[in-house]
Amino acid sequence: MNDYDQDPVQTTVGILGGGQLGRMLSLAGYPLGMRFRHLDPKPGAPTSSLDEQVQADYDDPEALDEFARGVDVVTYEFENVPVKSARRLQEHVDVFPPPEALEVAQDRLPEKEFFGDLGMDTAPYRRVDSRDDLNAALANLGPPAVLKTRHGGYDGKGQRIIETGADVEEAWEELGGQPLLLEGFVGYDREVSMLGVRARDGETAFYPLVENHHVQGILYASHAPAPETEPAVQRKAEEYSRRALEALDYVGVLAIEFFQVGDRLLANEMAPRVHNSGHWSIEGAETSQFENHMRAVTGLPLGLTDPVGHSALVNVLGTIPEIPSVLDIPGAHLHLYEKSPRPRRKLGHVTVRCDDEREAADRVKRLHAVLKAEEEARKSAGS
Ligand code: AMP
Repeated sequence: MNDYDQDPVQTTVGILGGGQLGRMLSLAGYPLGMRFRHLDPKPGAPTSSLDEQVQADYDDPEALDEFARGVDVVTYEFENVPVKSARRLQEHVDVFPPPEALEVAQDRLPEKEFFGDLGMDTAPYRRVDSRDDLNAALANLGPPAVLKTRHGGYDGKGQRIIETGADVEEAWEELGGQPLLLEGFVGYDREVSMLGVRARDGETAFYPLVENHHVQGILYASHAPAPETEPAVQRKAEEYSRRALEALDYVGVLAIEFFQVGDRLLANEMAPRVHNSGHWSIEGAETSQFENHMRAVTGLPLGLTDPVGHSALVNVLGTIPEIPSVLDIPGAHLHLYEKSPRPRRKLGHVTVRCDDEREAADRVKRLHAVLKAEEEARKSAGS
């Protein structure tokens, strides 16, 4: 018997997925007395050094039953969880966010229809199931236009911009033969995202809009709160998020990405989970998106979503930077995900937080220089 024999664990949470989002959910839940079990088909997932793992496919019925045994609630960290699996788990245990949210988010067509039904603007779009459909859609919407797969696209994968006749051929060759969508090209001012959270009792809370910058379809940097945001635009984004949360009887964090054109917000896509553009909230908000997601799904009251100063998030892509150089920047917080380096892979992120907006910008410049130096060093070493 020693002094540590008391076990304060109150809730065991099952998380479908063992990636960095699952890892940051666990890290946020531990101080609240939670413990975690993850289901992930791959060995050595980023959660494996922290939590219990069930290594199996997401549609393996026996593994799902084993995973669900003894957990109080199940949530997920990515949107391509098979809906059938989420429903099977629901027979044993509460699953939040509701599987209906997965259904909407897994297919760009119902997702766009969902946005439209809730009164949100989107880019104009047409369903494309054949080459004839594509010609008709192009005659209607463009070029320029963007051809996208309806399922499974992420980080800019599964889409092609069509500007010329030659692009049509290439895009069709690459993407044809699966359900597609053609979207009119939006000349947006910027990309922003709204993270909303809804508790089991229906309470909602919203983070400030975040401005996002992508490189080759992958999120590279986010600024929160999004600079120079009109209060009316923030209110509109919150209203859109609220409608989506309520329509789905949602529990947890929901991310919606928008193209901003003037004071209009065109909904592009949603993720029924915590989101990369919300990582800044670990240091930059009163309560992080991860903690609020865990609070919501376990039936706890939500925490305040107010920002604490200005934050910039920069993803660590492909190469681990020199850690002391990053940490030497005032206000910089490094998060590594225990993933092995591979070109363009998300290996971690850095959040730079600062009370003064201009000073925050200077610190971010320093951070970019550190990350770039590392990238250059790696290239010249030929690794
Ligand atoms: P998505 O997979 O829909 O998030 O698209 C990835 C990126 O492609 C977006 O972040 C935009 O930068 C760009 N993009 C996607 N759809 C459009 C569009 N309809 N018009 C202009 N740019 C787009």
